Parts: sequence; C-alpha cells; structure tokens
Amino acid sequence: MISRDTIDTIISTLRIEEVVGDFVSLRRRGVNMIGLCPFHNEKTPSFTVSPVKGIYKCFGCGKAGNGVNFVMEHEHFSYPEALRYLAGKYQIEIEEEVQTAEMQEQMSEREALFNLNQFALDFFETTLHDTEEGKAIGLSYLKERGIRDDIIRKFKLGYSPSTWDAFTKHAREQGYKLEVLVKSGMTLQKDERAYDRFHSRVIFPIHGVSGKVIGFGGRILTSEKNRPKYVNSPESEVYNKSKSLYGIYFARNAIALKNNCYLVEGYTDVISLHQAGIENVVASSGTSLTHEQIRMILRYTKQVTILYDRDPAGIKASFRGIDMIVEEGMDVKIVLFAEGEDPDSFARNHHPTEVEEFITNKADNFILFKTRLLLDETKGDPIKKAGLVKEIVNTIGLIPDGISRTLYIKECSALMNVPEQVLMNEVRKILRNKIKKNIPGIEQPEDVGWVEETAAPSQEEIDLISDEYQERELIRQLLLYGREEIALLRLDESGKEIEFSMLVANFIVVDILRDELEFENNLYRKIFNEFVEARDRDEVPDNTYFKLHADPEIAHATIDMMVSQYELSENWEKNSIIVEEEPKHIKELVLSAMLSFKAKKLDKMITAKQREMREITDQKEVGILLAELRDLKASNIQINKELGRIITK
Ligand code: ZN
Repeated sequence: MISRDTIDTIISTLRIEEVVGDFVSLRRRGVNMIGLCPFHNEKTPSFTVSPVKGIYKCFGCGKAGNGVNFVMEHEHFSYPEALRYLAGKYQIEIEEEVQTAEMQEQMSEREALFNLNQFALDFFETTLHDTEEGKAIGLSYLKERGIRDDIIRKFKLGYSPSTWDAFTKHAREQGYKLEVLVKSGMTLQKDERAYDRFHSRVIFPIHGVSGKVIGFGGRILTSEKNRPKYVNSPESEVYNKSKSLYGIYFARNAIALKNNCYLVEGYTDVISLHQAGIENVVASSGTSLTHEQIRMILRYTKQVTILYDRDPAGIKASFRGIDMIVEEGMDVKIVLFAEGEDPDSFARNHHPTEVEEFITNKADNFILFKTRLLLDETKGDPIKKAGLVKEIVNTIGLIPDGISRTLYIKECSALMNVPEQVLMNEVRKILRNKIKKNIPGIEQPEDVGWVEETAAPSQEEIDLISDEYQERELIRQLLLYGREEIALLRLDESGKEIEFSMLVANFIVVDILRDELEFENNLYRKIFNEFVEARDRDEVPDNTYFKLHADPEIAHATIDMMVSQYELSENWEKNSIIVEEEPKHIKELVLSAMLSFKAKKLDKMITAKQREMREITDQKEVGILLAELRDLKASNIQINKELGRIITK
C-alpha cells in the first residue's frame, strides 16, 4: 500500500495541465487552458483545465475533477494505479506500507497484465541485445533493414527465442501464474502443453498513449509455411485493438506540433519514418480506422494524411473507411507511393528531407482525389457519371462543417462539370435524411452500414431544414465581418459609376430596414436588432460583445458561429481552395448571403399570396393579388439572377 506521505507528495507535486496535457492537446485561453474533451466526442473544445485551481471540467459532458481523478477516468486506473502512474511521471519514490499476501491477491487483473507485459518487454529486449541467438538472428535482421541502434532502443524492439517455451518457463520461474500468462496471450496452451505465442519472432511492443506496453506484435524470420508472418497479442483487459494505434505514444507530441497525423499500415513504416526524423506517424495495423482510433487522433489534430502503398483497387476498397474520417470533421489528405514502393522502403532509400518534401508535395485532398480517380473511370459514360455524382455527394454530405461542404461542392462541380446547384440539392437531400434518421418514431431506412452512428444534427442542419438557414448566414456575416469595409458602386447624377466603401454592418442593416424585411427566428431577430440600435449610436458591436452577452442563448449561438469561422479560415489556408483576395471574397459572401435571404423571403411571400388567392372569389381582389404576385415573382427572378452572377463569378 502507498503511504499517506507519498500520496500527499504526489498530490502537491502534480500540475494538472501537465497531467492532462499528456493526453489532450491544450491551448491557453486566458488563465485557463482548453482542448477537445477526451471523454465525449466533440469537435469544438469545451474541455477546460484550470492550472490555478488544479481542476478540469468539461462543459460538454460535465466530467470534472483533479489530476488523480483525470488519470483514473482516462486510463481506467484504480486509485493506487493512478498514484503509481503519477509517481512515475514525477519521479517520486513510493514509500510502501507492508503488503500482505491478501493485498497482493487483490491486485487488479489490469495491473497484473501490465506487470507481465513490462516483464516480457525486458525479457525480449535482453534476449535481442545480450544473447547469441538474439544477436545472430533478431538484431542482424533489424540491422539488415537499416534500423539504427537508437531507434531499436527507442521502440524497445526485442526478440523471442526459438525454444518453444523459453519465455513461459522463465516467467513461471519468476512467479508469474500460468493463468495470467494465458490471459495476456503470451502463452498458448495445447494438450497440457504451454508454449510461447511469439517464439522465434522479432518483437514490436505496442505502447498505449501513456507509454505503458499494452501488447506485442511479432514478425517471424524463418520461412515456416504454417506460421503467419505477423502475429499480435489477443484482445485483453489492457489491449483493445480497435482502440489502439501503433506508435501513438512516440508520435503524439509531434502530431500536435505539426498539426497533422501521418497514417501508415505497418510497424516498420512507423519505425522507418521515425528514423528519417518524421515522428508524427502512427499505424492502424492493417484494417481501416475505427471511430475510437479517429477520436484518439482528434485529441491532437484535425488533419490526417494517409500514406498509401496500394494499387487502385485497394485504394477504392478503402474509400468507405476514409469517409468515416471525413465524417468526424477531419481534413483528410492522401499520398500515393509509386508501384512497389511503400513508406518503409521510401524512407530507407531517400534522404530525410526528400521524404518530408515528397509527402508535402504529393499530399492530395481526399475528396478531390476520389473525384478525379472515379472520374477517370467514367470515361464520359453518363450512367457511370451519375453514379459518380452520387458517390461524391455522399462523401460531401458527411462533412460536418457547412462551409467546407460548400467549398467542396464548388470544387467538385468544376472537376466533374456538373452544375453546383445539382450537387447542392443532392447534398441537402442527404442532410435531410440524416436528420429524419435521428427523429424517433420515423421508420428508419435500411442501414447502409457506413453512415451508422450519425451525430445529432447541428443547429446549422436544423436551420437548413426549418427554412432559417438564410437568416443564420446573414447574422453570421454581421458577426464576423460587421466591422469590415466593402467597396460598392453607385451611379452619380450623370450616370457615372462611383466607388464608395461602407461597413458590412451598415450595408446589411440599411438594406434590410429599407426593404422592411424581418427575421423569423427569435434569436437572430434579437441579434439583428442590437445591430440596428448600435447603428443609431454610430457603433458596430464586435463579436466579443455577443460572445459575452447576458442572454446565454445569444452568447451560445455566437460562439457556435465563431468556431465554424475559425475552422473555415484554417481550411482555406491549408487547402488553398479559394482565398486569393480575401477582402473581395467577404464582399461576395455578404452579397450572396443578402440575396439568398431576400430570395427566401420572396419565396415565402409568393407562397402566402398563392394561398390567399385560393380563398378569394372576388374578381377585383384576385386581379390585385395577381399583380402583386407578378411583381414578387419578377423581383425573385431578378434576385436569383444577381445571385447566380455572384456565385458563378
Ligand atoms: Zn466532455
């Protein structure tokens, strides 16, 4: 048992931001730090750490506590396990109180498995470096592959002897129970005989996020036909394949630093890239990523670059899996290696700077890559092309952020030579279905497998359905660009065009008031009215004012819109999709939001007039209504024309 003194030392030494920082990428916000919550799936950070108070709290799921609570919760540690972990982190010597046999018995299964893994790791490492067989077979194989000593030590590579039960025997001699050995998967039992799962293999230990060894992979060096080339530890209390990524412990800091995670297939790809100085790399071990693995990466970055060594058929087979990453809101890029080349061989045969350059230059946006690849195959066949449109629209529909969706629609429409509006309509259909799927009581369509676990609809998606999308867009422009100046044209008395500039907020407010248009959404109307009042004082409120607004609904809606703007500008820079001249772009955004808003209002007026007409029999009144209707329709056509000019410009 850990003494009270040691516990006090641990608690007074630990710094919450360091403890949490090992698992969550945190950035400073005022006196606090924020990051993506590791306890629930979120795309915008609501997980807050207070270094001053020594606590964390998530405003999304409500989880809160101190440093010890955090590792207990995060690593599923017991209280003593958490204390031991923290003592290790801060190099605090643990003062043990006498442990009885009974206490040892109570040591949890997890702890027993972790202990055994650590014991096995030491055994395999020692065998590789200090025995004749290890040096002659294991070490010489690794050296032949060009793996340096420091890298072998860093990844703690090892060797398991060819004697069938060398490890099992050694472990039992040291007091490890056969039951634990079998549970960990290190030992296999057959006809009363116990032997080593990994015998005569080079060992690749698998580390968890916190650096503990959770399992092993072993590669065979002999050419025995009935033994697979690679074997892994089976699932256990401490090793869950779908929740672990090879290399994450060594990569996490580099991933956060580079704000990008390279994804490869095999252990040796990870190791060779590390040797080339590229450390932000993990392996999914064969199959495509699981949701848990994606979330693990999301703690450090929103960008994934997949390094492929596959043929076109293999790539196409992986599209569904990559769609899943897109659905998590990640920005996915792809790098293709030449036929017969893989990240491992490429890293070994090229200078580190060439490797980094190659990856950077070859990285292609996944959605555009997919479009081009499939487009190549349609060869002008209209039926195949229709299939392609559906396929691409499905992927775009998965992107959680509305603005990114719009940008991809633009790009893909140009690539496929399909009108934007067609793609837009298809994407909206998908979003509608997605929302219907989440409303209980409505019959669910046949599950198509890869869209399961759809997130709850965002406010933006709800607005899209409830006809308030245009209102939201306009308010967003007010909040984001209200204080920006845009250049406009007007005609002077002689009919000459004069350029003048105006603040975006004034432009929108004046225009809406002149046309006597109103916001239907309560929240948006409140925000708009604040802009109107501010204008009377010749002021433009900035978004900080709304973010800290006394009305929590207004504050929340503002923060919601701000965050998607942050992602937007980041995407623009990273993908260089549009944005050459941003000021000019703001003007287009504002104008198109304005016109869309008006077009929507006109649509509604037209529908209302038509309904009115059906209930009126007086010929004179019908005549008046018809004339009004004609005017409305004419304005609508005019507005849509202008809108078309802006969008296609
Ligand atoms: Zn949370």
